[in-house]
Amino acid sequence: MTHTAELIAVGTELLLGNICNTDAQMISQTLSGLGINVYYHTVVGDNPARVRAAVEVAKGRADIIITTGGLGPTCDDLTKQVLAASFGKRLVFDERSAERIRAYFAERLPHRQMTENNLQQAMLPEGCTVLDNDWGTAPGCAFEAEGVRVIMLPGPPRECRAMLQYRVVPYLREMADGVIASRTLKLFGIGESAMEAQLRDQMLAMTNPTLAPYAKEGECELRITAKAATEAEAQAMLDPVEAGLREQFGDLVYGVDVSSLEERVSQLLRAQGKTLATAESCTGGLAAKRMTDLAGASEIFRGGVVCYATDVKRDLLGVPEEVLERYGAVSAETARALAEGARRVLGSDFALSITGVAGPDPDDRGNPVGLVYLALADGQQVWVKEAHLGQSRERVRTSAVHTAFDLLRRRLTGLPVLG
Ligand code: ATP
Ligand code: MG
Repeated sequence: MTHTAELIAVGTELLLGNICNTDAQMISQTLSGLGINVYYHTVVGDNPARVRAAVEVAKGRADIIITTGGLGPTCDDLTKQVLAASFGKRLVFDERSAERIRAYFAERLPHRQMTENNLQQAMLPEGCTVLDNDWGTAPGCAFEAEGVRVIMLPGPPRECRAMLQYRVVPYLREMADGVIASRTLKLFGIGESAMEAQLRDQMLAMTNPTLAPYAKEGECELRITAKAATEAEAQAMLDPVEAGLREQFGDLVYGVDVSSLEERVSQLLRAQGKTLATAESCTGGLAAKRMTDLAGASEIFRGGVVCYATDVKRDLLGVPEEVLERYGAVSAETARALAEGARRVLGSDFALSITGVAGPDPDDRGNPVGLVYLALADGQQVWVKEAHLGQSRERVRTSAVHTAFDLLRRRLTGLPVLG
């Protein structure tokens, strides 16, 4: 049976825009990984009548309700009272939770006096499953009533995340009959809408496995999810769908269940025992940062030069003066010389260079915002790509880094580098 969950975030500060509803994002991601549909997110202030109204609506259209926030000891923390009342339950004092709260204060907050109202957090709906909170004081809880499973989690994201992972996921897994397995294909070089257009009919026709597209920072993901009695059966159902998508999208698919292009590139570099260096102008070291975000980067990444000023391109990386004068810093010729220079200076097998106009204004030669030249040098050959990456500074920089990594990914997997 497919389940439908609704999230209710309680907190006036969310409505005022003081904080973002990141708990909802995190919970939704987790639920979709479990194959549970989420159709609605509700945000409601610390107001008992309005929380009650939101719960009544949610009951009518979801069989799992997850709330966040309002489990604390203060008077605006009203979630449990309202949920219990809505499902006709009393709140009862749970001695074990009270003991845990006392112990938490004694161990973790010895300098803070525990006040009586902290013990309010031990008031829980009768007959509920207590979700112990090892990361804060407020326990969560879960109960089933009127055909709905209700789960209440604390608001602070750190606590919410841990409770979700260690308490809720096992609880939801147990109720799901069968196993849900999923695989995520990562694509680069196709827009989300183009991808969706190609897949729309297929997606609509699929029920198990299902296929869901996502777009992220200029990359696309396709998640295939299958449900079956056993893990092996679920995996076997994923295989033909994955094969079909690989055939359909060819070398745009850069990996399965990898987190990013740089992760894929670093896997390939490692497998081939090769190293990389970078020379970056408009991306200001972003490519180097992304490489070094990965643990163990020192084996494959030699270093990077942020060559922002023209004389740095010339003096540090040896771009000839006449190239800079004739073609300018943003040019195919400069990108080529930067990649060769970085390889030489940093002593790597491969080097990537990025030079372009991130905006907001065109450069002094009138090159438009979003024009970026990227080059890859491997000691034998240099490939240069001209790319037009949009108007927003942020977007241009991220896309430039992705495009650069993709050149190397293609080179390392024996594909035509420039597509
Ligand atoms: P506490 O015991 O800290 O009072 P609580 O369960 O009562 O926890 P709230 O009082 O509603 O939770 O929120 C505590 C803090 O957690 C908020 O100030 C906010 O910073 C954060 N928070 C609450 N809800 C969310 C949410 N949906 N997304 C992100 N952060 C949240
Ligand atoms: Mg609170």
